[in-house]
Amino acid sequence: MTDGRALARTYLEQQRLLGTDTVILPDPSPPTPNPLPATPGLRPGLDNTALTPGESPGKTEKGPSDSLPPAGLSFDPPSDDLFSTDPIQRAADLAAIARLVADCTKCRLCEHRTNTVPGEGPVDARLVVVGEGPGRTEDETGRPFVGQAGQLLTKILGAIELKREQVFICNVVKCRPPENRTPQYDEVAACVPYLFRQIDLLKPKVVLAMGNAAAQTLLNTKQSLGALRNRVHRFRGIPVIVTYHPAALLRNPNWKRPTWDDVRIARRLLDG
Ligand code: URA
Ligand code: SF4
Repeated sequence: MTDGRALARTYLEQQRLLGTDTVILPDPSPPTPNPLPATPGLRPGLDNTALTPGESPGKTEKGPSDSLPPAGLSFDPPSDDLFSTDPIQRAADLAAIARLVADCTKCRLCEHRTNTVPGEGPVDARLVVVGEGPGRTEDETGRPFVGQAGQLLTKILGAIELKREQVFICNVVKCRPPENRTPQYDEVAACVPYLFRQIDLLKPKVVLAMGNAAAQTLLNTKQSLGALRNRVHRFRGIPVIVTYHPAALLRNPNWKRPTWDDVRIARRLLDG
């Protein structure tokens, strides 16, 4: 049973945190007729105008906060074998990975970096957030998501009651691409063993992929973010939720609402 008032309060608080200025109150049950053509699985939601067919399907009787989207892609790259001599596969802990990253020259991104940005967070983190690559502030400090996008990420995490310090935060590439350009295919290919090993060591309950680079890398696909959202994908069996990159949200505040929907899915998986 859910307490409608508590839900409404939480919802309004999330909207405030995410800076949404339009307030659309959840529709109390019983469900009202859906203004969209009847689509199997489409529920009367918090804001039907924000839903397109296939988005946020759920069982009306359970309420939006209980439903999970359908299964998506699964990517199962081979893990290390016992006899691997690859230092990344042999790295025993996160600090060992960070040391390997600090000395890494496997791609051209090493040429312009000030600091490597391996990622940070507790070894027992249940959520791993993956972004694209370090920006200017990250390159200067060696820490992930500390610039403007990082401040927004901290708010997004707060909206699902997670402190930044409870989450492992990292990127697909560990060195800053010049002018913050998208990392190129060979750079991602060179760097991704570090990310995969980090996830192996952390064994999180959920991975949140923010932006195209993270989503496409973790799921080994060229599908766009729009197509990948609202599914529970798997990376080596671990649920992967895909959402917009915080830097994209700074440019397009209309994506805040769908981002909030996405992180709530991650929250449900963490609670499940
Ligand atoms: N954008 C990213 O993708 N990662 C960071 O660490 C900072 C900004
Ligand atoms: Fe090495 Fe990754 Fe930095 Fe390239 S981006 S130099 S692969 S750590």
